[in-house]
Amino acid sequence: MAVPKKKVSKGRSSRRYKTYVKKQHKKILDKLVLVDCPQCKEKKIAHQVCKTCGTYNGRQVLDMEKKTEKVTKVLA
Ligand SMILES: [Zn+2]
Repeated sequence: MAVPKKKVSKGRSSRRYKTYVKKQHKKILDKLVLVDCPQCKEKKIAHQVCKTCGTYNGRQVLDMEKKTEKVTKVLA
């Protein structure tokens, strides 16, 4: 069985992990396709519910009034 010659330090492993996370993040960002929402003309991720008006494929999916209520409660 192959055995590592030396212990990998915390710094070295965290550095490796950081670059790995960066790479994965970039991969996800490259795959994202932004399109204009047909309802509110705002930019949204393709094949996902619009986060500004809460519609998908021409019908209301998310209750935006409740969402804004929550936000105002947090702010107050
Ligand atoms: Zn929209």
